[in-house]
Amino acid sequence: MRPVSAEGVRAEQAVSAPCAATSSEPVRPPHPEASPWRPRLHGSVEVITGSMFSGKTEELIRRLKRALYARQKVQAFKPRVDVRYDATRIVSHQALAVDAVAVATSQSLEARVEDGTQVVAIDEAQFFDRGIVDVCERLANRGIRVIAAGLDQDYLGRPFPPMPELMAIAEEVTKVHAVCTVCGAPASRSQRLIAETSTVLVGGAEAYEARCRICFVPRDDQRTVHEGDDDPTLVERRPLPAE
Ligand SMILES: [Zn+2]
Repeated sequence: MRPVSAEGVRAEQAVSAPCAATSSEPVRPPHPEASPWRPRLHGSVEVITGSMFSGKTEELIRRLKRALYARQKVQAFKPRVDVRYDATRIVSHQALAVDAVAVATSQSLEARVEDGTQVVAIDEAQFFDRGIVDVCERLANRGIRVIAAGLDQDYLGRPFPPMPELMAIAEEVTKVHAVCTVCGAPASRSQRLIAETSTVLVGGAEAYEARCRICFVPRDDQRTVHEGDDDPTLVERRPLPAE
C-alpha cells in the first residue's frame, strides 16, 4: 500500500470540501474590480428567451433603460425581415431613447457597432444567421455587454437556430414565460392557430397563442416559420437582401 503524505490528505480534503479554507492557503486580496459600485468592465452575453407573448422584448427594454440611466452608450439592432422595419424605436422614456437599426446580416451588425459602445442589444435574434453567435462572442471579448432576445422554439416546438448556440455561449440565460391560453399554466410554446395561406400573415393573437407543454399541439403540416412576438404583424422569414 502506498504511503499517503500529509499533503496528499490535505489535497483530498480540499477536493471533497472545495469551499473549506485551510490555514496554509494564502488569502487572496479582493479583485480590484469586485466592487458592485463600479461599472461593469468585462464583456458578457445575456440571452432572454421564451415563447411568443412571453415579454422578451419588454425585458430587453427594461435592461436597456437601466443601462441608459447609467449613461452607458447603447446600440440596438433588429434583423431586417421586412422593409417596414427599417428603423424602429424600441426604447422611449422621457429623454431616454434608442433606435433599433435593422440589419440584414450578423456581419452588417458587427460592422455598425461603434467605438465606445458599452451595451449592444439584439431583438428577434432567432432571425439572424448563425454568424450572430461568433459576432456576440467577439463583441463580448471586446468588453461589450451583449443582450440578445429571441424565440427559443419554432411553431413545432423545435429549437430555433441560432438561439441554442447563443444560449450555450452566454454567461446568463433568462427564460421568460407567457400564460397558457388553455389552462393558465406558464407557457413555453407558440401554438399556431391558422393554416398557412400567404407569405405574410397580418395579425397576432388570432394566428398564434401561447401554450404550455401539455396543451401545445404541433401541426406538422405547416412548414413555414413565422414570428410575431410582441408585434401585431407576423412576418415570414425570407432570404434577406444583401446590403
Ligand atoms: Zn396549458
